[in-house]
Amino acid sequence: MSRALFLVAVLGGLAWVERRRPLRARTQPSGRRTAINLAMAGISAVVTGPLQTAVLDRATTWAEHRRFGLTRWIPLPRWLARMTGVILLDYTLWHWHRANHHSSSLWSMHAAHHADLDLDVSTALRFHVGEMLASVPVRAAQVIVLGIDRATLRAWQTALLVAIAFHHANVRLPARFESTLSKLLITPRLHGIHHAAKPDRLDTNFGTLLVIWDVLHGTRESEVEQADLAIGLPHTVGGRTPGLLDSLRLASSHRDT
Ligand SMILES: [Zn+2]
Repeated sequence: MSRALFLVAVLGGLAWVERRRPLRARTQPSGRRTAINLAMAGISAVVTGPLQTAVLDRATTWAEHRRFGLTRWIPLPRWLARMTGVILLDYTLWHWHRANHHSSSLWSMHAAHHADLDLDVSTALRFHVGEMLASVPVRAAQVIVLGIDRATLRAWQTALLVAIAFHHANVRLPARFESTLSKLLITPRLHGIHHAAKPDRLDTNFGTLLVIWDVLHGTRESEVEQADLAIGLPHTVGGRTPGLLDSLRLASSHRDT
């Protein structure tokens, strides 16, 4: 099965479970939101997809030819070097996500992702094209500095897309299972807290794959009932998820307005 087909199956499977076991009640008509989120994903894919592929191809080739990067400099068995690479990719992505919240220019684009007033698997596709463009040099730097080879990059990109689809999904997992899982991985309940409209909750649970980075930085938050969450941004809660054009405008740099 190709990677694209596999990812469509993952998204479709999660969307199917969302209808049977929702974690949070919807506040928005889902057809309109899904259409907007898919349109944003389409624009980002067309604008940044070929560019990202070309840039990362060059970055992996450059690092490979020069034997450059942390996981190449430390003598490790290949499997351990690859695992270390994936873990460090996840950690550096944690910093990139936090930077998207703390830098006003990055937040002006990342806000489009948080402006969705419901959270489900379609939100996993809702990223501003500017944020996707800005992430291309960051990905290239990750690949070069960490010494990521092609196979590791491909495995991580697949794991990343599955993890992002999973933790955005509006899926109610058995509470004890999710409580155990959330000690290791970012789960739908944990990421739901990150999408809450309260500013102090926005600054928690920045992780993508592993929870440990939020534990280390004191930003892990799990003690919030999902029923108490208002998803979105403080100024949009109670309204409608912004349409496509509004979502593509750069948001105010002030996060509380
Ligand atoms: Zn965020």
